Amino acid sequence: MQRPLLLNGCRRVEETRHGAWEQVRGYLPSLWVAVLLPSAIFATIALHHMALKTGGGVPNLYPPTAILLVALLRHRPAVWPVLFFLGTGTEAIAHREFGFDGPILAINCAYNLLETLLIAVAMKRFCDLTNWYLSIRWIAACTVFSLVAAAVAVSLGFALIFAIDHPFAQYMTPARWVKQTISDAASVVLIAPILLSWTEPAFRQSGKSWGFVEAFGMMAAVAALTSAAFWMSESVAALFLMFPLLSLVTLRAGLFGATGGAVVATAVAVWATVQGWGPIANHPDLPFGDRISFLQLYFLGAILSSIPMTMILKVRSTLAEAVDAQAAISQAALSNMAQGLSMFDADDRLIICNGEFSKLYKLPEELTRHATPLDKMIAKYGRTGKQLGKLKRLVCGAREAGDREQLDGEIKLPDGRVINVHCRLLDDGGWVATHEDITERRQAEERIAYLANFDALTGLSNRAQFNEQLKRLVSYLERGHRFALHAVDLDRFKEVNDTFGHAAGDELLRQVATRLRETVRTGEVVTRLGGDEFAILQFPLEQPEEASALAARVVKLLSKPFTINGRTVVIGASVGIALAPSDTCDAAELMQKSDLALYRAKVDGRNGYRFYQPGMDAAQHARRALEADLRSAIKNRELELHYQPILDVKEGSVGSCEALLRWRHPTRGLVHPAEFISVAEDTGLILPIGEWALNAACREAASWPAGVRVAVNLSPVQFKSSRLISQVKGALERAGLDPSRLELEITESVLLQNNNSVLKPLHRLRAMGVSIAMDDFGTGYSSLSYLRSFPFDKIKIDRSFISDLGTRADDLAIVHAAIGLSRSLGMICTGEGVETKEQFALLEAEGCTQVQGYYVSRPLPAHEMQELLSGGSNLTGRLLKQAA
Ligand code: C2E
Ligand code: CA
Ligand code: CA
Repeated sequence: MQRPLLLNGCRRVEETRHGAWEQVRGYLPSLWVAVLLPSAIFATIALHHMALKTGGGVPNLYPPTAILLVALLRHRPAVWPVLFFLGTGTEAIAHREFGFDGPILAINCAYNLLETLLIAVAMKRFCDLTNWYLSIRWIAACTVFSLVAAAVAVSLGFALIFAIDHPFAQYMTPARWVKQTISDAASVVLIAPILLSWTEPAFRQSGKSWGFVEAFGMMAAVAALTSAAFWMSESVAALFLMFPLLSLVTLRAGLFGATGGAVVATAVAVWATVQGWGPIANHPDLPFGDRISFLQLYFLGAILSSIPMTMILKVRSTLAEAVDAQAAISQAALSNMAQGLSMFDADDRLIICNGEFSKLYKLPEELTRHATPLDKMIAKYGRTGKQLGKLKRLVCGAREAGDREQLDGEIKLPDGRVINVHCRLLDDGGWVATHEDITERRQAEERIAYLANFDALTGLSNRAQFNEQLKRLVSYLERGHRFALHAVDLDRFKEVNDTFGHAAGDELLRQVATRLRETVRTGEVVTRLGGDEFAILQFPLEQPEEASALAARVVKLLSKPFTINGRTVVIGASVGIALAPSDTCDAAELMQKSDLALYRAKVDGRNGYRFYQPGMDAAQHARRALEADLRSAIKNRELELHYQPILDVKEGSVGSCEALLRWRHPTRGLVHPAEFISVAEDTGLILPIGEWALNAACREAASWPAGVRVAVNLSPVQFKSSRLISQVKGALERAGLDPSRLELEITESVLLQNNNSVLKPLHRLRAMGVSIAMDDFGTGYSSLSYLRSFPFDKIKIDRSFISDLGTRADDLAIVHAAIGLSRSLGMICTGEGVETKEQFALLEAEGCTQVQGYYVSRPLPAHEMQELLSGGSNLTGRLLKQAA
């Protein structure tokens, strides 16, 4: 607790000590001044007395007053008492040395003190001490104050001498009063500026370090030259050579050097003359008493004449530096501007431009030089020049109109760039302009405008544009025109997108757009409404047949394979057509009706077209209702599986049964999969339904004789689920069914994506012991390549090839080929949809391994299948008998 207090106390003592010294310091001049001031005064008085004593002449100028005055002017009044003490004290001592008596000394001190004080106060009060050399007012004030102060002081001095009746009183004549007053004032007016210039901070650093020495050397040369000229001509006029010579020295050596050298030269000359040496001392033309005054005035005149010149030079160079600095700043600002800048005068000649300006217009250097006329740029610079002409017209127009507002113009360059110009007229008729490359901004704007009407991906018109056109076509209806609206939807586009990725999907859409654009006639509009939905406005339309022809063309065109990134992709398209005015004259209704027709086309198996029919609204409602009912079908146990036996031709026994879904709807009765599988796939309900079917089929098959297997259909949608493998495993485990007794049927569309995400699960399923069959073989496009990508256990020849077997030679050829293929690949081959004896016989003759169809048996409910299978070994005979 004590210590900090103590420390605090110590510090305070120190602080006060320090503070006291600072306070005293505030009243003292610097050591330099304290030494120089008395020395200079003493030296000049010594010289003065020397001149007085030898009688070589009475000096006219008395430097001590000017020395003291400048010391005062350069200090705060607080320091003045000490300066007075030093100054007048030295004077008193110096004069005493040279024989002044006490009273005269006192009077001399008093009157010098008064004189200096008066001038100092007046000048401090009324004159600007910085840049004083540029001010006439300063010189006038300095002269007036000096004269008044000298008059007052000299009068006081005279009065005091008369008052004490000193022996000097006899010399105090009016003529002497005038002479003394003028010489006092003159010494201030002539000497103070020299000293002030020496102490001016702006001039102090100027000159070289050896400037004074160099200057003194030059002064010696000048003095020698002047003296020689004087001697030879024997005319005082020759001495005026000093003036130009000293000016030259000043230019060379700077103010300090020149004036310093001159002052020393003055002192030397005065001293020499006092000694009776030199040209002045013995010159017959000069009256003896005036020689010293002459010398003093001569030198001081030369010095003074050089002061203003150097000062003005100094100011000039300072100004030039400032201008250079300013120019550098402007240049930096100009060259770092992101925009181009140009400034032209009233005659349209270039004043200045920045690099960006010449870069923007690619102007060669010769055209960006100062004073290049705009006309020359226009004339010499081809098509860009022509564009610059636009700028000139803009400015001229504004000049004539007296328009001082900012002008905006746009210049389109031959290379496609767009330059925006902001231009403003200046007071002197010139103009300044900024130039900005707005090409990118313009392009973005154009792009935005384009995007507002066109689809960015395909370049087709978009929905907004389509609506406009539809409205326009509707307005033509009154004049008896007709048109058709085709709603086009891609089949299986989602599959492509999901399996190959969005980039492939985009590419597919672009190719679809190209095909559509190429198939329509001029006047017909193709639009991408969004996703994989397109629309075509067919106009003009004479007959509805033209609409069906276009739709058929579209369907055919889009079902041809596409090549995306080297892969072949097959999709298809469904088209719904609504006709105006026969279906409706309302744009919104037309859209709705074409949608309904499209929907119908999709439900009817896709890859086809449908016209709008009045009953379609109801059909759609029905489908909506179906969708809603299907959601609760599993929970309400409305789904069941029927089983269709598949006959091994050689053995004549049932090798397996295919599980086929049935929906026992509470009001509609038994619904077949054709009616609800696509709804289930679209809504994702196929996942729980498929899982249910898998479990039910395995459970059922577990109760069959050990040699009979069960075949379950898998939807491509189920294949996308990661849970497929575990679902199959779970179903087998729960039912206690050996995996070798399960067969999974997949269609080609599952294999659309020939990569690991599909092949891996297929291989895993096979590794489990489950067999994989390719269903509906022959309906796709690239069956053969798919067969290569995965080693199927079985192929099932699609019903469509079997039904016309007896009548169509090409079908027979295909069946023949398929059977041969399966045999050589070691696969089982099943003929589907065998309905007649002939079909059966043909397949048997071709060597088909298995047959399935109404000829053998219709799909049967589970318990009937049970009965059939438990019927024993004569089953085949019975079946065939039944069929017959
Ligand atoms: P699919 O896999 O080609 O099944 C064979 C279809 O042909 C069955 O129709 C069957 O009743 C029918 N059929 C069999 N023999 C003949 C015949 O001699 N003549 C004619 N005209 N038809 C015959 P169904 O049961 O209506 O099934 C239709 C389609 O529904 C199936 O075609 C299959 O793709 C799908 N499906 C059936 N059940 C399921 C299932 O559990 N899951 C999945 N994902 N799809 C199933
Ligand atoms: Ca099947
Ligand atoms: Ca089939």
